[in-house]
Amino acid sequence: MNKNENIENVEEKETEVVSKNFIEQAIEKDLAEGVYDTVHTRFPPEPNGYLHIGHAKSILLNYGLAQKYHGKFNMRFDDTNPTKEKMEFVESIEKDIKWLGADWEDRLFFASNYFEQMYECAVKLIKKGKAYVSDLSAEEMREYRGTLTEPGKEDPSRNRSVEENLSLFERMKNGEFEDGEKVLRAKIDVTSPNINMRDPIIYRVAHMTHHNTGDKWCIYPMYDFAHPIEDAIEGITHSICTLEFEDHRPLYDWVVRELEYPHPPRQIEFAKLYLTNVVTGKRYIKRLVEDGIVDGWDDPRLVSIAALRRRGFTPESIKMFVELCGVSKSNSSAEYSMLEYCIREDLKMKKPRVMAVLDPIKLIIDNYPEGQVEYLEVQNNVENEALGTRKVAFERELYIDREDFMEEPPKKYFRLFPGNEVRLMHAYFVKCESFVKDETGKVTEIHCTYDPETKCGSGFTGRKVKGTIHWVSANHSVKAEARLYENIIDEEKGVYNEDGSLNLNPNSLTVLKDCYVESELQDAKAYDSFQFVRQGYFCVDSRDSKENHLVFNRIVSLKSSFVVKG
Ligand code: ATP
Ligand code: MG
Repeated sequence: MNKNENIENVEEKETEVVSKNFIEQAIEKDLAEGVYDTVHTRFPPEPNGYLHIGHAKSILLNYGLAQKYHGKFNMRFDDTNPTKEKMEFVESIEKDIKWLGADWEDRLFFASNYFEQMYECAVKLIKKGKAYVSDLSAEEMREYRGTLTEPGKEDPSRNRSVEENLSLFERMKNGEFEDGEKVLRAKIDVTSPNINMRDPIIYRVAHMTHHNTGDKWCIYPMYDFAHPIEDAIEGITHSICTLEFEDHRPLYDWVVRELEYPHPPRQIEFAKLYLTNVVTGKRYIKRLVEDGIVDGWDDPRLVSIAALRRRGFTPESIKMFVELCGVSKSNSSAEYSMLEYCIREDLKMKKPRVMAVLDPIKLIIDNYPEGQVEYLEVQNNVENEALGTRKVAFERELYIDREDFMEEPPKKYFRLFPGNEVRLMHAYFVKCESFVKDETGKVTEIHCTYDPETKCGSGFTGRKVKGTIHWVSANHSVKAEARLYENIIDEEKGVYNEDGSLNLNPNSLTVLKDCYVESELQDAKAYDSFQFVRQGYFCVDSRDSKENHLVFNRIVSLKSSFVVKG
């Protein structure tokens, strides 16, 4: 995908009507032709993990369509497979979807509540001669099924009588068979060029406890049979799913047709959203979590929705990202830098720009009166006056960032070095007179003089300096921890090393424990975010930040590698 093209599309949106995506076109055609008189969508996650950025696309797409066409949006847990599903995931999924702003109102459903109806649907098919109980083992089933180039073979049980099938299916339900001993197959066409249509399995025996229905059932419907029924029961009109289900659509249509639903739903597929340079696969994330390499599914280095939220991303930024990606029929990946572009855009006007020193070095203004504190009035966001002003303490002892001082600067270094004068942001010019080193050669103190004439806002025009650096007062600031992130695993570069260990980026987390931020931030709460001038956007960590120990996650730096044309 050409990202620049997409950025331009967004800009165009403000002036002209954006062309409709292919799903909107299909929906409008259906409405115009009277196929449906309303739009009803759903998001159907399987509660077997945390949602990630790809799911956000599906959620916002389905919810957005319902809103756009004044229809309805259902939240439905597709919990028909008891093996991997857990309540923990049900709860996290609900929280994430609410946070994204998709509102299912009172329409929260669990597919497992339809088990009775699904059973009756299977009985109906058997009675119509459209389903039969098979005795084939899993291995035989594979053999009989054929390949892409060879047609399948008829199951020896294919022509069982309706009565025998009804009785066997009931015995399956009653627990008379072991797992895998019998299955129910749809009777469609074993020679179909589409393998999904070669008498697919629609029910299997599985003696497992389900998180919702307990031990009530020992037979469970297969996804391809269950999903269209779930949609039909809920009155879904457009069942939107990802591309890998395209070849399953004939089966979806077969199920709703044979079950004779008066207003059958319609499946439409779109391409999954992939993000470059990150890890999204559930099994990799699971391993990172289980091996204790990350501190949970919401570790800010991950791209689960919970992790993005904890890191400081906003629902608006994710929405913008998903819109930039667009809806398409062909698989492509979006760059992580595009997501970063979106969060910068979202926070730019909304957040105060404060000073924070991440790697402090003391700066002493020798000619500034000892004990004096000045409170400088500073605009919170020069691009957005509505955010007001704040007071910043200035005094004789300050901290500046270590990288803003050099003993022997290269050419074009305009920050502090012996003999050079810079502006302290929002304050005065200071000139470096001397510095102190410890026995290891590390600079521990910088001594400066300041010029009272040069106060910011005083209209001083006497001379100019080339560098402006940020600072905080040494005694009227708050100590904090900052965490800087890089991606932890690059799926494209390979998840594993040759020896089977995970191919981890050693720099994925940098913890800076000795940072100082303006005292204004001392009451910052979980999820509050700020621009730290010259350093990036930071968000208060919701798990580890405490009243006396502020922890900030860097959401994104200020520099962009993402080029916006024009
Ligand atoms: P994963 O393979 O990442 O575990 P999944 O497809 O198994 O995802 P589900 O819980 O079945 O996860 O997905 C719920 C919905 O989200 C489905 O409709 C699915 O098509 C959609 N979805 C999953 N991954 C993506 C993605 N990367 N982009 C867009 N939609 C997605
Ligand atoms: Mg799935």
